[in-house]
Amino acid sequence: MAGKKYCPHCVNTVLTVNHYQGEEVDNCTTCGGLWFEKGNLNAIIAAKCQHVEEADYVANLGPALEPSHRSCPDCGDKLQVFHVLEDYHVDIEVCQSCDGAWVEKDTACKVAKSSAIKHALADMNKKVNWKTWVFQALLRMPVEYNVKPRITPWVTYALIAINTLIFLTYAFDERLTWQIFDNFAMAPANIQAGDHWWTFITATFLHGSFLHLIGNMYFLWVTGDNLEDALGRWRFLGLYLVCGILAGVISVLANLGSPIPSVGASGAIAGLFGMYLLWFPNASMTFMFFVWQKKLAVMWYFGIWLALNFFGMALGEQGVDYWAHIGGFLAGLAIGATLRQRVWDANPLLAHLAGPEVQVKR
Ligand SMILES: [Zn+2]
Ligand SMILES: [Zn+2]
Repeated sequence: MAGKKYCPHCVNTVLTVNHYQGEEVDNCTTCGGLWFEKGNLNAIIAAKCQHVEEADYVANLGPALEPSHRSCPDCGDKLQVFHVLEDYHVDIEVCQSCDGAWVEKDTACKVAKSSAIKHALADMNKKVNWKTWVFQALLRMPVEYNVKPRITPWVTYALIAINTLIFLTYAFDERLTWQIFDNFAMAPANIQAGDHWWTFITATFLHGSFLHLIGNMYFLWVTGDNLEDALGRWRFLGLYLVCGILAGVISVLANLGSPIPSVGASGAIAGLFGMYLLWFPNASMTFMFFVWQKKLAVMWYFGIWLALNFFGMALGEQGVDYWAHIGGFLAGLAIGATLRQRVWDANPLLAHLAGPEVQVKR
């Protein structure tokens, strides 16, 4: 189009022509908004992501929501308001006559990510079905709904392998088990005697039974893959160990003088729960009450888990190191809150998925 185009928002400002990835994009120097001519927005989204469908606003954006008060700078028709994505409640305005799109300043970076967001939302929005029910009814483990990690979580897999191998070396020999536990399980009395300080770490790699191991390793896998992706491998490993140590410290302080040895990765894994909760607040886990399965926001899932720990402690049920769980979880929350902004800055997709504009179906 030969003539000048005016900003649909500021009305009097002439739009400046720019190019982005070979497509023409006009921007307003006054309000920072962007105008994408004739399907250019969909072309840019398609170029960013090979598995995005062809230019079709209704298919990509969901149904039109309402007419806008702004007009198309190309053809003058009234614009229509759409969500960037069906389950991602950020508005853009589209001209249905010429396929142009108006995007306000803050929306622009989110739109550039929208195909990745779209695929993540599809995973997060999946419903419970008979398969998830059978899985949880038989294994008593939750089903996770979250964005898939971009990397293969080798550190998480290695931790699972190491824990399993260590367990298999002693599990079938009771005498050897007690020998190992005497030296490497964590007993507050030993720590207080200034002895066995290495057990803060070694105890997190020991398990008391096969079920204990399986349960812990499942939760390590569920939360570890996403956290390893968000943090990078070595920082993830470092924080896993730090949470294990802090869980141990709190367990010792809560059980001063006790000679009872404590083992298990659950304190470290409870730390992962804390970080996971803060960085992936729109993720879900299924909870099963008798035969009734419900998909819950992670805040509710971990909230119930925490409450069950306090209940178990109040009822005096033996055999579980509740304070290691609670301590690890608190350590994870503290680390998670401290690092949250840095993790989100490094992973803009995770920041978008954590926002209030995301609407997860549960
Ligand atoms: Zn403007
Ligand atoms: Zn138009």
